Amino acid sequence: AKSEGKDRYQFFEREMTQTTKRVFELENDLRKAVARNELRVYYQPQIQLDSQQITGMEALVRWQHPQRGLISPADFIPLAEETGLIVSIGEWVLRQACQQVAMWHDQGLPAVTVAVNLSPLQFRHKALVRNVAKTLKETGINPACLELEVTESMIMDSIDKSTATMIELTELGAGLAIDDFGTGYSSLSYLRYFPLTKLKIDKSFIERVTSDEHDAALATSVIALAHSLNLKVVAEGIEHEDQVQFLVKRSCHQGQGFLFSRPVPAEDMEQLLRQIQ
Ligand code: C2E
Ligand code: CA
Ligand code: CA
Ligand code: CA
Repeated sequence: AKSEGKDRYQFFEREMTQTTKRVFELENDLRKAVARNELRVYYQPQIQLDSQQITGMEALVRWQHPQRGLISPADFIPLAEETGLIVSIGEWVLRQACQQVAMWHDQGLPAVTVAVNLSPLQFRHKALVRNVAKTLKETGINPACLELEVTESMIMDSIDKSTATMIELTELGAGLAIDDFGTGYSSLSYLRYFPLTKLKIDKSFIERVTSDEHDAALATSVIALAHSLNLKVVAEGIEHEDQVQFLVKRSCHQGQGFLFSRPVPAEDMEQLLRQIQ
C-alpha cells in the first residue's frame, strides 16, 4: 500500500508538471499571438426577431494556434485576464472590429452595429476611454455603430468609478450593453443610473425558456424591465424556433443564436450583409 501511495504521488506530480508546463507554454504563446497575427475576430449576427433582419453583430475572438488549431475564447481569455495580456488583446479586437465596420461601410453595405466585449481588467484600465476614442477617430466609423459589452459584476465592483467610465464611453457616442444579464448580482435600483442602452438576456435563461417556468418568468421580467427603463433587449443563445415565438410574444426585439448563425469569419459575415442589401 505504501508503494502504491508513492506511485500515485509520482503520478500526480507528473500530471501536475505537465499541466503547469502546458499553461506556461500557452502563456508564452499568447504573448506572441497578437504580434504573430494569430488572433481572429469572428462575428455573430444579431437579428430583429419579427422581421428576421440583421441589425448588428457581436465580435468574438478566437486564437488560430499554429499547433493546437482554433482555440475558443473560454480556453484563453481567463489566462489573458490573469496575465494582463487581455488589455492588448482587447484593444486589438476593438480596432479590428471598427476597421471591419469601416470597410463594410465603404463598400456600401448596410450600416450595422458591432458589439465588442470588454474584460474586467480592460474596463478598469485607465487608458480604456482614450483608446476607444482613438480607435473611433482613426477608423472614422459612426460611434453609434459601436456597442461595448460589460457585465454586471464589472460595474457593480466599484460603482462610482464604473459609472464615470460608462458615462465617458457613452459620451463618445458608443452604446453600452450589459452582457449575461441575470447571472450577476446587480442591484436593480442602480440600473437606471447607469448610462446603458441595452440588456442582453443570458443564454442560460433562454435555453429552457419554453420548458422551465422559472426561466420563463425571469426572461419575461428582464424584457419588461428593459422596456420600462427604455433599453433595447437582446436574447442570447437562441437555438429553436419556439424560443423565438416566446420572445416575440413578449416584445423582445432582438436575438442572437445558433438558430440564425454561429459566429463566423468576416468574409462569411460580409456575405450575410450582402443578402440584406
Ligand atoms: P459571451 O460574450 O457571452 O458571448 C456569447 C457566447 O455564446 C459566444 O461564445 C457564442 O459563440 C455563444 N453562443 C452564441 N449563440 C449561441 C447558441 O445559440 N447556443 C450556445 N450554446 N452558445 C451560443 P464564444 O465565442 O465561445 O465566447 C465565449 C466567451 O468568451 C464570451 O461570452 C465572452 O465572455 C468571451 N469573449 C469572446 N470574445 C471576447 C473578446 O474579444 N474579449 C473579451 N474580453 N471576452 C471575449
Ligand atoms: Ca458578449
Ligand atoms: Ca453573453
Ligand atoms: Ca458570458
